[in-house]
Formats: sequence, C-alpha cells, structure tokens
Amino acid sequence: MNMIFRQLFDASSSTYSYLLADTQTHEAVLIDPVKDQLAQYLQLLDELNIQLLHALDTHTHADHVTALGALREATQCTTLMGDKTQAKCVSRTLQDGECVRFGEHTLKALYTPGHTSDSFSYLLNDDQAVFTGDVLLIRGSGRTDFQGGDPELSWDSIVNTLFALPEQTAVYPAHDYKGWTQSTIGEEKRHNPRLAGKSRAEYIAIMQALDLPDPAMMDIAVPANLACGQP
Ligand code: FE
Repeated sequence: MNMIFRQLFDASSSTYSYLLADTQTHEAVLIDPVKDQLAQYLQLLDELNIQLLHALDTHTHADHVTALGALREATQCTTLMGDKTQAKCVSRTLQDGECVRFGEHTLKALYTPGHTSDSFSYLLNDDQAVFTGDVLLIRGSGRTDFQGGDPELSWDSIVNTLFALPEQTAVYPAHDYKGWTQSTIGEEKRHNPRLAGKSRAEYIAIMQALDLPDPAMMDIAVPANLACGQP
C-alpha cells in the first residue's frame, strides 16, 4: 500500500501514536504524539528519511502532554486538531469531513464527540483504517465524565458514525491498557462488551456508573495541551 505504518507506544500513559508516511514522497503525518517521546519521533523521522507534514491530535488529552508544539518547532510541520478544540496554538483546525493529504494518501476528519466535546476520528484512505482517539477503544470506549464528555454523544458517534464504516475497516485507538493493538469495525460491533447487544439507554447507564478517578496528569496535561504542550 506504499505506506510506512508505525504504531508507537508511550508506556507511562498507555498511549498509541501513529506515524504514517508515503513511501514515494516520504511525506508523513503523526497522530496523537506524546511529548515524552519527542526524541524517538525525531530519530525515526531522520532514520527513515521522512518529512513530517502534519502532527494531529484527536482531542485535548488529559493523561499526557502532547508533542504537537514541540514537533512543529523541531520540524516546521503544521499542527492540526478538529475545529471544536479550545487550543488556539494549532496551525489550523479541520472541519468535519475535511481531508489532509500526505503523498497519495488521505486522512479525513470525522467529528466524533462523546469522550470529549472536541473529539475527532481520522479516517485513512477511503475506509482502510480509522484512528478513533478515545471515543472507541478496543473492547471498550473512552470515559465520558469530563471535558464535555457525554455518554449519549459517545453512543451516537460510535454507532451512527464509526459503526457505519465497512466492517473490515481497521480500528486504531489512542490508548490500550491490556495489550490490544488493533481491531476492526466488525469486531467491535460484535464483541465490544459495552456496545454489542446493548441499547442506547444501557450504554448510557454503563458509562454513568464507571466512577473512575481523574487521570493523574489531568491538572497538568489539560492546560499544557491547550498550549500544544509548550510552556
Ligand atoms: Fe482522552
């Protein structure tokens, strides 16, 4: 498929970041980069002779500091988020349905609120894969209890937008805590315990009963990320 695809992992926040590059033009995008891993990204870009065009976040993360600002400084890439973000630091915001190109490949922004009010998913090359941020996780879904999270919107985004994609579309989330690395839309429809065979009301009740502690980094990460991770 003429693409370099790297799933990168930040162990301290269990975050997945994704480096996608066109093998012909060497142009790349990096989704949900973590600031602590900046040196690794720069090393990889250098060693693979890749030019980073865009660094994108799916949403304002609460559990790690984004590398968006640092990557822009180091590589002159543009920084992108969906247009519901409060982060004024990004180079440009993407509207629902808007596309970003790198080489012959395309990422399409899909507005999928629910985990946060600013959550977007990014769809690769006409349904090849979808980067879901935290709204849809593998056999789970992102919490809906802060930053404009809303279990009703989460259900609607997952069921009406993501589950409308072809069953074979690969699913790549921004986190996993159990070692899962990828799924598909069909797999999640059939086996996601919060969604498969559940009604909208049952899903909302499950999400409202989670009662999770705040992320340890939240008070630091959210303000930092509204400045693209740069002091
Ligand atoms: Fe999140």
